[in-house]
Amino acid sequence: MKMHVLQGLGLRRRTGVHPPARKLTRARAIEHMPLPSKVILPLQQHIGACAKAVVKRGDEVKVGQVIAESDGFVSAPIHATISGTVKQVTTIASPITGQPVPAIIIESDGKDEWIELVPADPKNLSNEQILTRIQNAGIVGMGGATFPTHVKLNPPPQKHIHTVIVNGAECEPYITADDRLMLEETDKIIAGIKIAMQVLSVTRAHIAIEDNKPRAIERMRKTLAQLSPPERITVVAVPSRYPMGAEKTLVKSILHVEVPEGGLPMDVGAVVQNVATLAAISDAVTLGKPLVERVVTVAGRVSEPKNLLARFGTAASSLIELCGEPDTSVDQVIFGGPMMGIAQPTYDSPIIKGTNCVLLTRSDFRDEHSCIRCGRCIDSCPMGLMPLMFVNCDKKGEYEALPDYHIANCVECGACAYSCPANIPLVSYIKNGKTELRKRGIK
Ligand code: SF4
Ligand code: SF4
Repeated sequence: MKMHVLQGLGLRRRTGVHPPARKLTRARAIEHMPLPSKVILPLQQHIGACAKAVVKRGDEVKVGQVIAESDGFVSAPIHATISGTVKQVTTIASPITGQPVPAIIIESDGKDEWIELVPADPKNLSNEQILTRIQNAGIVGMGGATFPTHVKLNPPPQKHIHTVIVNGAECEPYITADDRLMLEETDKIIAGIKIAMQVLSVTRAHIAIEDNKPRAIERMRKTLAQLSPPERITVVAVPSRYPMGAEKTLVKSILHVEVPEGGLPMDVGAVVQNVATLAAISDAVTLGKPLVERVVTVAGRVSEPKNLLARFGTAASSLIELCGEPDTSVDQVIFGGPMMGIAQPTYDSPIIKGTNCVLLTRSDFRDEHSCIRCGRCIDSCPMGLMPLMFVNCDKKGEYEALPDYHIANCVECGACAYSCPANIPLVSYIKNGKTELRKRGIK
């Protein structure tokens, strides 16, 4: 294979971009949303097999009850997030892919009746019991990746894991959900870190927080200093530079090693977990609480942006209603941030496990021009890639050449597109290239 890549470059020079942070909600404490009168719960809220419905129209359900079971090891169950009656088992447009996905609609009885939760002390649980509690709670990566957590915490025996890296970077503009969680649920996150360390049999963890969150850094350090006995958990202030929160970028920043092409952090001995996921792990293991809600930042063109604790399945429009008047120019709602977020087909798209932000924006269609070979996309790529070559190959239909440029290493962060003066939608070309390779069976 030809080596058309600036190998190791990310370690030697500054990459990434600096979009305006616009974290206007950083001082907004988390508010509990009123219970919705109805929830729409897609059965595919994670990477892996879609969950299988185990309820039918007319069934009465309680909060935390399993309504769809995992369909395989890499899958996650879905729970009722309000108590009430199953109104419909139907199909909706997935908030992740836009493609049809099975969904369950529950109408509230207004009682918020929960299943019985069974607490436990993690110290008295075996690793298998801990993983089962995490799996049964339906926990997936809440930073947006949505990979089932019980799988990530159960690496193959040949992988020697020595470090847990806690992702508190939250590098996308606007989003402050994790920042607020680190300030308001510090103990819970640390309890989740300790559980992850226990189950992975590691003695070292690093909490990576971008240096534009000084209060979270201070709160974490202060809380850790009070632990008795002390733990080998350190807080690392990482530079505020997008995409610092991408797993491979974090591993490079913290451990100074590169994850091999097509590999995972576990290949270099690390498991990366987002702070919200760790808080959910603590709830699942110590309280027996399934994952039914999360903190969502509502931001962009609204008069009163907020951080809201919302039950999954709540329509985005219900969150937006609590945040004042949207600007009249708004014509798009995005789940996630402006760099990697997903435009939704409707304002009523339901909040799901990976939704850290509801962003109200104006769509920004700009004419695409020809590449001027300025090299800015190369300078900004955190993976040391040559993004312009992906566009070249796509345009010529030379998809077989894409692996020569290490397209598998692209994390689709959008830093290249952000820095391109020719407005070339590089990520669209990259996604298309990856799809074409998959069709051809080429990795
Ligand atoms: S940044 Fe845009 S114009 Fe510049 S080399 Fe890359 S693709 Fe071409
Ligand atoms: S989207 Fe891919 S090619 Fe572009 S900067 Fe990010 S990692 Fe590099």
